[in-house]
Amino acid sequence: MCSGRVDLEFVLRAFAKGMDGVFIGGCRLNECNYITHGNYDALNMVLLCKKIMEHLGLNPQRLRIEFLSSGEGNLFTEAVDDFTKTVKDLGQLGKAEAIDEDELRSRLEEARKLVPYIKIAKRKKLETHLENEEEYDGFFTSEEIDKLINEVVSYHIDPEKCQACMICQRRCPVEAISGGKNRIHVIDQDICIKCGTCFEVCLPRFGAVNQISGEPVPPPIPEEERTVVRKRKKS
Ligand code: SF4
Ligand code: SF4
Repeated sequence: MCSGRVDLEFVLRAFAKGMDGVFIGGCRLNECNYITHGNYDALNMVLLCKKIMEHLGLNPQRLRIEFLSSGEGNLFTEAVDDFTKTVKDLGQLGKAEAIDEDELRSRLEEARKLVPYIKIAKRKKLETHLENEEEYDGFFTSEEIDKLINEVVSYHIDPEKCQACMICQRRCPVEAISGGKNRIHVIDQDICIKCGTCFEVCLPRFGAVNQISGEPVPPPIPEEERTVVRKRKKS
């Protein structure tokens, strides 16, 4: 498949499954047969993923992308041999970085859950075509990715303000919001991908969806307390 189809989540999943290294081969930049130029997307994803790996305490050399044409068998062999040697020298994933196995699994699982959020937050940069290698190094910075992950935003519906208009429930792309007619809506934090749609669509006069960062999300209100109580207008 096109290297542009190699999602950030695929790479993190490979590491979560215990792979010691991930090698991605793409067509030469600017030589894509289609208008999509997915190899640029793959490059940006790799640059981003390397910073995420650093944040997780993993050696970013465990991930490599090379751009080659189908007629360059020798170059491909050399690149794979060199990568294999690098990974062998680094040693087993996690062990070499002195990270406990369970801890590593948990860090990778947490990072995998954040993939949609990270992709939305970095959408503009991920769409950029980097024209020369000098730009690669500082394109994503460690500070930027640390901040993004450390200050991750969660969404919460204020039960006092929700008017059960159901717009957010209909627009949520992953069905993370439960509610219904006359029912205070509640976000399932385990399903939510932090896309922010509910925050954007909740009408300003309700303003019921809050962004929360740096503090725990309040627990959902009990089922039996979810009926919306509407105040009657005084006649
Ligand atoms: S859009 Fe706002 S008011 Fe409407 S159901 Fe969602 S949280 Fe409640
Ligand atoms: S942030 Fe996105 S995924 Fe999460 S509940 Fe709101 S609409 Fe759904």
